[in-house]
Amino acid sequence: MEEIKNVKGTHDVYADENNAYEKVENLMKSIAEIYAYQGVRPPVLEHSPVFVRGVGEGSDIVRKEMYTFLDKGGRELTLRPEFTAGIMRLVVQNKLYATNELPLKLYYVGPVFRYERPQLGRYRQFNQFGVESIGHNSPLNDVEVIVLAYTILCSLGLENVKIKINTLGDEESRNNYRNALKAYFAGHIENMCVDCKSRFEINPLRILDCKVPEDRPIIEGAPKIGAYLSKDSQERFDQVLEALEALQIPYEINQSLVRGLDYYSETVFEFHYKSKEGNDYGAVGAGGHYGKLMSELGGPDLPGVGFSFGIERIVSVLKDDGLLEDVKNQLDAYIMPLDKESMIYAEEVAVILRNSGGYKVDMCFDNVKLGNMFKRAANKKAKFAIIIGENEVKEESVVLKDLAKQEQITVKVEELVDKFDELYEASYGEEEEEL
Ligand code: AMP
Repeated sequence: MEEIKNVKGTHDVYADENNAYEKVENLMKSIAEIYAYQGVRPPVLEHSPVFVRGVGEGSDIVRKEMYTFLDKGGRELTLRPEFTAGIMRLVVQNKLYATNELPLKLYYVGPVFRYERPQLGRYRQFNQFGVESIGHNSPLNDVEVIVLAYTILCSLGLENVKIKINTLGDEESRNNYRNALKAYFAGHIENMCVDCKSRFEINPLRILDCKVPEDRPIIEGAPKIGAYLSKDSQERFDQVLEALEALQIPYEINQSLVRGLDYYSETVFEFHYKSKEGNDYGAVGAGGHYGKLMSELGGPDLPGVGFSFGIERIVSVLKDDGLLEDVKNQLDAYIMPLDKESMIYAEEVAVILRNSGGYKVDMCFDNVKLGNMFKRAANKKAKFAIIIGENEVKEESVVLKDLAKQEQITVKVEELVDKFDELYEASYGEEEEEL
């Protein structure tokens, strides 16, 4: 029978790579918790209007990339292409804005789905981690979200993360700017790509996001948002930059940064990182402030700010830069029963070390020669071997061997956890990381 393969644009995560995902996600969650964010799990499936209204009809995501289908009950549903709109639906429906002090600070992690052309760093099912801080318009709220994202990237070991930042201004600024762009591109649009032609009709700001090389010189010559900002928006942006400087967060203003989702206003930003191998996976994360998203979804007129990281891209740059060496599967101890009669006692020893000692322990269930078991221990990168034969069962002891030092001792089982702690601390004590 023909082998069934995974769906195009999806990927399997297993072995050490799965450890990498766990490490990255756990670190992101733990830092978000320190910043007083709380986890939230919206469903993967939503009614399509959540995203059509939320992300915006003019966005590439809604126009071309959504996995939308009718379920057996005839409902039009969409697999989430991003989290923010679904979270806003959750907040509105459960009135979380009414029962909590604002801003409401939420984080999330999980898969999202976009029908894009698969390539380096681009999948159709990928994972995002992100936060939303909802219900406060302070520019410091934007700053805190940027600082959190930057702290996470630095804590993962990434050096020289580039933060690109821009402001899209308020509605008045954007209307003025849109008109200026329309006037400018009217003279060029004939010579631009088909996507830009439709962007010109739907939302000319989106043209600034075009990656087609032939279009870039035209785009470079377009008017810049800075000249069209209202006084309020200019002041707000200045306050954001001033706070970033006070906190010593490096940034680069990029006036072409517009983001692909329609809900953004005021501050927008992206995080870029090129791995030392030179691979450019695109932005590892991005986000911004949004004004009208909640009211678009039937809620009160509350603003928010958030960012989203692409976990696949972050794992790729960490892997390229050798920052995931510590996620290799390693055992603390491998238990080696020498004969069938020692098996049950060996299992008891394994359970004691796991449950009382908290050590990662595996055991050989096969009746194989000792040399073979040592090979298996080496394959599993075990730090210690525990050898159990007839004598040990009789004496209620074990032979405990430090595989790095190649030294062994006999230990009574009731002293095993204490002795193991002591030897482990002596050989590996300083390696253990916090967080
Ligand atoms: P966005 O929701 O488009 O702002 O994307 C946020 C982050 O998700 C980006 O900065 C990327 O790191 C990641 N991302 C977006 N699209 C993809 C994709 N197709 N495959 C993998 N990662 C992606």
